[in-house]
This record gives sequence, C-alpha cells and structure tokens, in this order.
Amino acid sequence: MKAAVFHKPGDITCTTVPDPTIENAGDVILKVTATAICGSDLHILDGGIPQAKDMVMGHEFMGIVEEVGPSVKNLKRGDRVVVPFPIACGHCFFCTHGASPHCENSNHEHYGPEGGLVDQKGGALFGYTDLYGGYSGGQAEYVRVPYADVSPRIVPDNMTDEQVLFLSDIFPTGWSAIDWAQLKGGEVVAIFGSGPVGLMAQKAAWLNGASRVIAIDPLNYRLARAKQANKVETLNPHEVDVVEAIREMTGGRGADVCVDAVGFEAERSFLDKVKATINFEKGTMKVIETCFKAVRRGGTVSIVGVYGTPFDNFPVGQMFDKGITIKQGQAQVLNYVDHLIDLIKQEKVVLDDIISHRLPLSQVSHAYDIFKNKQEDCVKVVLNPWA
Ligand code: NAD
Ligand code: ZN
Ligand code: ZN
Repeated sequence: MKAAVFHKPGDITCTTVPDPTIENAGDVILKVTATAICGSDLHILDGGIPQAKDMVMGHEFMGIVEEVGPSVKNLKRGDRVVVPFPIACGHCFFCTHGASPHCENSNHEHYGPEGGLVDQKGGALFGYTDLYGGYSGGQAEYVRVPYADVSPRIVPDNMTDEQVLFLSDIFPTGWSAIDWAQLKGGEVVAIFGSGPVGLMAQKAAWLNGASRVIAIDPLNYRLARAKQANKVETLNPHEVDVVEAIREMTGGRGADVCVDAVGFEAERSFLDKVKATINFEKGTMKVIETCFKAVRRGGTVSIVGVYGTPFDNFPVGQMFDKGITIKQGQAQVLNYVDHLIDLIKQEKVVLDDIISHRLPLSQVSHAYDIFKNKQEDCVKVVLNPWA
C-alpha cells in the first residue's frame, strides 16, 4: 500500500510498504478515507521527537472498517469510524481513570516496559515514534487499529469526513485546554498559537462561556483566519508587546486563562539551526514564559503545545509567586469525543472551516513542506490516500 513514511529528520515521502494485518484478536484494519497532518507530526519531521527507523506517520485519520479481529464486538466490516489518537486498552488503571493517553498496556505491546527517554513508559499514539509505542500511523491507505472496541467512534452516514475528522485529535485537544481551566462564564482567554490547535481552542473557549477570546500568532494570515472563522480579537507579537496589550485589555490584571498551543513550534528556528539532532541544548520556552506573564494572579495556564525533555527548564519562580495553576499533556480525547460529536450534530460548532489544503497522499512531502514552512497560507492539510 501507499503510505507517508518518515525516513530521517527532514525526509518524509510517499512510499510503498506492506499492508497491515490483524496482529491481535482485538484489532481491526481500517481503509483510511481521510487523514490530516498535525503540528505534532512536525516535531518528528524536525527530529525534536526522535525516531531511529522508518515509520508510517499519522495520528489523525478516519475510514471504513475493512477487516475485523475475532474478539472485536463493537465494530463490523463496513462501519465508518473516526479514531482518537491515543491507543488505549480500555481496562488498565489509567484507562479506567479518564487518562487513556497514559494507558499501561498499549505502549508495551511491542517494546516491553523498559527503556525510552522518560523514566516511566506509558501511553501510545498512532505513528508517533518508538517512544510512543512504535505503531504505524494512518497517513496511509490502510492502518491497523488495536483495541478496536475502545476508541473508534462510528460516524453517522449524513456527516462528511471533513465534518468529523478533527475529532481524532485537534478539537478534543483544543477542548482539553479550555476544560482544564474550568471556566465559570465571563473569562478572558488568551490563546497563543493560531494554528489548527489554537483555532480549535478558540472554538472551545466560546462554547465554554468565555467573554473575550484573544488569539496571538506572528502570522497575520493565520490571525485573519482566526478572526473570520472564530470572531476573536487578535495580537501579533511581532507588532505589539503581547503581555502589555493583554494587561491593557484586562484592567491591568492579565487574562484569566492562557493557552499555549505552540509548543516546540516556537523553537523551530532553533531546531533548524542545530540541524534537527536530538543533542540540542535546553530551549528557552518563550511561549510558556509569555503565558506566565500574561495570565492574572491565580489564573490557569493550559499547555497543549508539545514539548520534549530537552526543554525541561521551567520558570517555577513566577509560577509560585502568581499562584498559577498549570495543566498540560496529551489531550484526554476519549473523555470528550462523544460530547463533541454531539456538538457537531447539533450544529453548535463547525470544524472544517480551518482546512486550507486538500491533497492526495502522493503529494505528502509537499504537504509537509507547506505546512511546516507556512507557505501558500497553509493552515491545515487533509490528505486523501485514494485520490
Ligand atoms: P502549528 O505549527 O500549525 O501551529 C503553531 C502556531 O504557533 C503557528 O501558527 C505559529 O505561527 C504559532 N507561533 C509560533 N511562535 C509563536 C509565538 N511565540 N507566539 C504565538 N504563536 C506562535 O501546529 P498545530 O497543529 O496548531 O499544533 C500546535 C501545538 O499543539 C504543537 O506543539 C502540537 O504538537 C501540539 N499538539 C498537542 C496535542 C496534545 O494532545 N497535547 C495534540 C495536537 C497537537
Ligand atoms: Zn495531532
Ligand atoms: Zn489502558
């Protein structure tokens, strides 16, 4: 089959690889009908999240069930499903405590409990390196979905792929960032990064009762899309002092909630400088520091932007002095996905207005290029494996 294969930093191509097969009784094989490129994929492309050997990319996908393992009960051949990105067994400690991205079983299926860059392994994602379980991803014609009774959600026939594709990751991720702050209504929410995740967090902020939503991004074309799609106020850090501007907008206090939907991205020029090896020096955490300055005392900073351990120098002094609550991590997609599919059905939210490019999988190298380098006003690329 055709798939987007990571070979080494900077090198992802559309390549022919063996078709996936059922490996465990609970697997299904999915024929992928739509798949997207995520900002998180760029960290692999950059070498910020290291991967030593070839791997099929992609954790945002949906499709039609092609083949069903003997123990699968909830799905049958022909079902159309969207697949949340965390691979979750559904019955371990973490899966039964609402924390499926930390599933104790999924990351051991291939590699055993020892090793890795972190001190305790746990949690697996599709197409997200050996550190996260070594599973092949969904930027491909077909993908094996383990524990298929747990995560995939059947999609109503009358909804298009594009209407629901982003339930696999970025809408629940943007929703997590806002849910972590537990809005009561009337809050000012400042969202750093107006990429796909930031745009989804903006939608979630309105739906959770924010009174003002402020989008911050150095790219004016992305701010324009944010304004058009989500009716937010915008700030460009290249044009204004963002901390000062947010304080001015909030009577000097600062935003109730700051969301970091940037992560590694802010360090991309830095990563490029060191030629995308994993031996870089500690990063500067520019966006988190700005969030800490721009949030009010007692406010919440939600970090959904991804960081790797090389960026482990943390501004703990500011955090202590201002009494800031910090929430962060991989989104708990399974906790939200059923509620969020209902919001789409009830037409309370539209997700596909962020798509800027629709390309065949065969053009995946070009797709990664324009998404990474922010060319052609790229915001979100959806790939069709069958075009
Ligand atoms: P993206 O690269 O398209 O968006 C990042 C945006 O941040 C860009 O628009 C960029 O211009 C902007 N930016 C860069 N420096 C900035 C700065 N100093 N201040 C404000 N904005 C700045 O990526 P994306 O797909 O939107 O993903 C964003 C982040 O979210 C990535 O780190 C990604 O890995 C992460 N992510 C996390 C989860 C999760 O579960 N926690 C899920 C999906 C994505
Ligand atoms: Zn993603
Ligand atoms: Zn589990």
